[in-house]
Amino acid sequence: MSRKKIIAGNWKMNLTPSEAKEFVTNLKSKINTDKCDVVLCVPAIDIPVVLDTVKGTNIEVGAQNMHFEENGAFTGEISARMLTDMGVKYVIIGHSERREYFGETDQTVNKKVLKALNNHIIPIICIGETLQQREEGITVDLVRLQTKIALKGVSREQAKNIVIAYEPIWAIGTGKTATSQQAEEVCKAIREVLGEIYNVDIASKIRIQYGGSVNASNASELFSMPNIDGGLVGGASLKPEFEQVINF
Ligand code: PEP
Repeated sequence: MSRKKIIAGNWKMNLTPSEAKEFVTNLKSKINTDKCDVVLCVPAIDIPVVLDTVKGTNIEVGAQNMHFEENGAFTGEISARMLTDMGVKYVIIGHSERREYFGETDQTVNKKVLKALNNHIIPIICIGETLQQREEGITVDLVRLQTKIALKGVSREQAKNIVIAYEPIWAIGTGKTATSQQAEEVCKAIREVLGEIYNVDIASKIRIQYGGSVNASNASELFSMPNIDGGLVGGASLKPEFEQVINF
């Protein structure tokens, strides 16, 4: 089964709307989107300008978070319907920074995943272990559990479109990349649990990214592994080297 690679940039809390416009204008003239899908997950306030700047290209725009409720008294939050209405196609759910600083849990991740899918937004679901969990030898158990909880109530039909980002927390923003073997081992285990939850055919359609200090020099080796279908890229997605990651 050949899956089209998907490379998503996670800008985190960086770039103002005018900086975003300049960055994307430059990027879009340099990248080839034939061999992979490209998604820019930008701060909410940058979404309109980035959508406008990518018009006429295959680049998609994603959000970095959304609320799981339909609407209501949730000051500062953004709903799935708001994102769909703007033309946003993807949303990162459960990034480790959201889990660490904003109290997100596997349960809120599950609610957000269901809400995103019901609004035709593709969730990029982040899972991954801390360094301590890796040293304790529980990485695979943990990502299996995170995957199962995140996908509770997600139908087979919906599951085909999701993206899972395996992001070892110790590799995010640290410059310490997992080796391609370490990343492959966990992505393979995630595909196995997807096969158990759904079936092997559906598992073979779901794209699994690796994230954690991906850059121009390690992208092509990581993305050549059989179960790694691209990357979720933080720091390097804000630099000119992002074009080399995309053109890996
Ligand atoms: C991320 O923010 O999801 C990420 C992987 O960051 P970095 O590439 O900077 O490690």
